[in-house]
Amino acid sequence: MQKPKLIVDGKRLDGRGFEELRPIKIEAGVLKRADGSCYLEMGKNKIIAAVYGPREVHPRHLQDPSKAVIRYRYNMAPFSVEERKKPGPDRRSVEISKVSREALEPVIMKELFPRSGIDVFVEVLQADAGTRTACLNAASVALIDAGVAMRGMVTSVAVAKVEGNIVLDPMKEEDNYGDADVPIAFLIRNDRIESIALLQMDGRLTLEEMKKAMELAKKGAMQIYRLQREAIMKKYMKEETEEPEEENEQ
Ligand code: ADP
Repeated sequence: MQKPKLIVDGKRLDGRGFEELRPIKIEAGVLKRADGSCYLEMGKNKIIAAVYGPREVHPRHLQDPSKAVIRYRYNMAPFSVEERKKPGPDRRSVEISKVSREALEPVIMKELFPRSGIDVFVEVLQADAGTRTACLNAASVALIDAGVAMRGMVTSVAVAKVEGNIVLDPMKEEDNYGDADVPIAFLIRNDRIESIALLQMDGRLTLEEMKKAMELAKKGAMQIYRLQREAIMKKYMKEETEEPEEENEQ
């Protein structure tokens, strides 16, 4: 297929400027059965995150007597992409699960929960590039919603090089036909970016472009971080004003 034109009159295909995020929607506490949960949209990406734990780990030999064991499962629904995706894990989802777990692990105060396990499940219901970043944002909110002690928030966004321009939060066409794609996650603590929790790249950037990409990612991440916080605050405000829900097992 011929490469489409991705920038027209200084705008991207969906009308965004180079430094603009896609519309974001975040809601915490959407699942009744999970200890913590989050629904998140970033453009056309639709993600559900569910957290279980801290709880006892089975089988027992997987327990760590000094700290909690964290498990992270990234999964794409068969209907999340244009052509039906074969269900179940594949190389890509195993890799994304591993790097995402590694991004979250240092932020979770694992030493407070010896012998226990914290399971993070993220389900991609609809994918449009940047799913690993959207999933990390949802997972972070779900972990906080579950009451897991955290050193801060993990906030993630990708940057890309498209027709010579560094752009924030690439969508599918930009990811497919762009020259570089760089997903980044930050640890944000006390409203400040403290460190980088994940950094991947495919394609090629000059050092100058990489610096620009990092600055742009930082700006984007701070916007997402505020929305993550807002979602958590909203959930707790709601809990305070609402009567406890009746258990309605059927
Ligand atoms: P990310 O979603 O984190 O950007 P990739 O760069 O690997 O990860 O994937 C980019 C996009 O390509 C995905 O968001 C999705 O829209 C699409 N994609 C990934 N895997 C598949 C697949 N097996 N079938 C169809 N589309 C896919």
